[in-house]
Amino acid sequence: MVLTAADISILPRPTSKLSSVNWDQLMFGRTFTDHMFCADFEDGKWIGFRIEPYGNISIEPSLSAFHYGQSIFEGLKAFRGSDGQVRVFRPEMNAKRLNASARRMCMAEVPESLFLEGIRALLSIDSDWVHGKAGYSLYLRPFLFATETYLGIKASDSYRFMIIASPVGSYYDGRIRVRIEQHYSRASAGGTGTAKAAGNYGASLFPAMLGQKEGYRQLVWTDSATHTYIEESGTMNLFIVHNGTLITPPLDSNTILAGVTRDSILALSRRRGWETREEPISVDFLKTGLADGSIKEVFGTGTAATIASIECIGINGVDYSLPDLGLESQANQLATELSAIKMGEIPDSLGWNWNL
Ligand SMILES: *Cc1c(COP(=O)(O)O)cnc(C)c1O
Repeated sequence: MVLTAADISILPRPTSKLSSVNWDQLMFGRTFTDHMFCADFEDGKWIGFRIEPYGNISIEPSLSAFHYGQSIFEGLKAFRGSDGQVRVFRPEMNAKRLNASARRMCMAEVPESLFLEGIRALLSIDSDWVHGKAGYSLYLRPFLFATETYLGIKASDSYRFMIIASPVGSYYDGRIRVRIEQHYSRASAGGTGTAKAAGNYGASLFPAMLGQKEGYRQLVWTDSATHTYIEESGTMNLFIVHNGTLITPPLDSNTILAGVTRDSILALSRRRGWETREEPISVDFLKTGLADGSIKEVFGTGTAATIASIECIGINGVDYSLPDLGLESQANQLATELSAIKMGEIPDSLGWNWNL
């Protein structure tokens, strides 16, 4: 199936909510644009491609997504450059990852043209929501859930695919405090850690709440078998800078989400000629490097925060602080370059942007 713009019906909202938005006080994920994109998978086919006003949807209580968790999502952003052009960052990567999640969760896959044309249709009608001011972007949330109304445990026969969009502002959030988690697990080998499956996030909330009570913003998950190797943090992949070399855990453990930002940071670092390694990072290696100063930077990467520098890591009751290297840090240099590519300020020689 190849979807084109002509296959999508459009029901516009009579009046836009745009004028009521307070752009100086946007909180992540709380404000939504005027429209949403929907499509349904029924009797083995994708049908009903439509743009509707953002709002309530009607579903039955027996909806299988509620009961057995066939629900997956994606997250990506659109930016408006100073040239006025709207660009979406590497959306085909998200389309592929949604389908990798769908296969793991035994759900219908979303054809790439449906994913991309859905984004295009939503951005076309809500394009005024992509603010051009530095730091602003429009967060896109595609998601897929089971819609069969049946209480038997089985893969659903029907699904809905939707895309909603939320403007996000520029706020400097500062460096964050994290704690190494060595009791609870996010993912285990053979589990669903590589899928952006809703249940993974629900399961992380209780351990994360315990960490927050101790003053840590996020947990750094470790491998579930031994709790001695670090994996990732919240919805971010992790990098350490060890004597100038960027190291991030490899994806072959099948417990780590393959981040688009992770991939982009590795590519940009290699292009700069910086040494990069994808290899296991033990908690001991991290602890030693933090203590002797050979590890000067630790940062998380993800679409929401882009790059979040870490100021302090709690390991087994001891807090290890990291120096604030400011704009000189490798993390900051990469963040600046990545942002310039997304905004169209420097040539997109890696072909990452998708122009609306
Ligand atoms: C989404 C996510 C990431 C980051 O992926 P990006 O594509 O860079 O946004 C990392 N880890 C987890 C667990 C995630 O859900």
